[in-house]
Amino acid sequence: MSCSSNKDRDYEAQSQIINQFLKQVNHKLVVMSGKGGVGKSTVATNLAIFLSNQGYRVGLLDVDVHGPSISGLLGLTNLKLNTSGSRIHPYLYNENLEVVSIQGLLNQPDDPLIWRGPLKIGIIRQFLSDVDWGPLDFLIIDSPPGTGDEPLTVAQTIIDCKAIIVTTPQEIALADVRKSIHFCEKVNMPILGIVENMSGFICPTCGNTHDIFKAGGGEKTASDYKIPFLGRLPIDPSIVTAGDEDRSIDTLNHNIKIEMQSIIDKLINLLPINQKGAEESMKVAIPLVSGKLCTHFGHCEHFAIITVNDGRIIKQELLTPPPHAPGVIPNWVADQGCTDIIVGGIGEAAQAILQNRGVKVTCGAPSDTPENLLDKYMKGELVDSGNSCDHEHGHSCGGH
Ligand code: ADP
Repeated sequence: MSCSSNKDRDYEAQSQIINQFLKQVNHKLVVMSGKGGVGKSTVATNLAIFLSNQGYRVGLLDVDVHGPSISGLLGLTNLKLNTSGSRIHPYLYNENLEVVSIQGLLNQPDDPLIWRGPLKIGIIRQFLSDVDWGPLDFLIIDSPPGTGDEPLTVAQTIIDCKAIIVTTPQEIALADVRKSIHFCEKVNMPILGIVENMSGFICPTCGNTHDIFKAGGGEKTASDYKIPFLGRLPIDPSIVTAGDEDRSIDTLNHNIKIEMQSIIDKLINLLPINQKGAEESMKVAIPLVSGKLCTHFGHCEHFAIITVNDGRIIKQELLTPPPHAPGVIPNWVADQGCTDIIVGGIGEAAQAILQNRGVKVTCGAPSDTPENLLDKYMKGELVDSGNSCDHEHGHSCGGH
């Protein structure tokens, strides 16, 4: 067997382990920022601590290979992760919060477990496959700033991950946030909301708020892009001191705790907490010939069966239907659990079977790839033309 097929097999096996783990995680959140130093790690760490204090089981993963800061923010600069065999044990910060940071492995640079494979992508995948996380309510990932390899690997590996974007209020930071928003749109990762950090300074002497980096820019960007605004955190010297003195940011002052709690409350409201599986989902069938929609429903080579959850594709299969005979293919489509079907033309009898079995039929779609058709379908751009059976061939399309 060739070397590359061995590698493919290893990659596949690892993907399976990752998927098994991810199935046990209710909510996967990646905390992103357009530029460094805006407080992304501070927000990620606070989210993890607050959620764990509220009784949620939380995993906090720092994938910032170049500047891991989570362990410092938690007062764990000397954090060392234990390994046994091929398994990595997360650090238990409290009974609900498990922490894994690249920092905890840096003192073992020769460890072949950690450094095998293409560096950044390999490490992130290993953190998902080789760490003994256990079932989690939240996996919070602190990604390095920008739109590089790390957030891309997260988006590609954790297909139902959602983003939280942290920014400071001034225009230079907001320009980078817009790049992060466009990145999320490109990789099809929903944005849960924007947090504006370092938003005003409450003077401990006079009690007035001074907008050192201006204020409100994050909220305006959120509103421009119709993204939820989760809230703002003021500049608070206790955050810097806690980080610098290697004390946990658990020791934050009262004001910032109130603001942080309000961000958590908004976040929880946006998530289907404790309603696992309640997110909107659909399974769409598209008949294909040579990789594109077959306008002749009953005579297609394959069906693309695409599962969409919460607006994102979570599974795509290519299935061969049984041989063409009256009623067979529509019933087979319904047996696959499909909720929707996109077709060019379709016979009335076939259409009736599908509709009776609860499958929504959209007729009159053009010959295009399943991805393009699904994209248009989800945007509401594919309009059912009614029974368009005759528009292509001037005769019945089959599948009766
Ligand atoms: P990033 O992850 O975006 O690079 P960090 O979370 O590491 O940013 O924060 C950068 C620095 O700013 C740290 O020293 C941190 O303590 C400080 N910091 C973050 N948020 C605040 C805040 N609201 N008030 C004061 N200092 C802050």
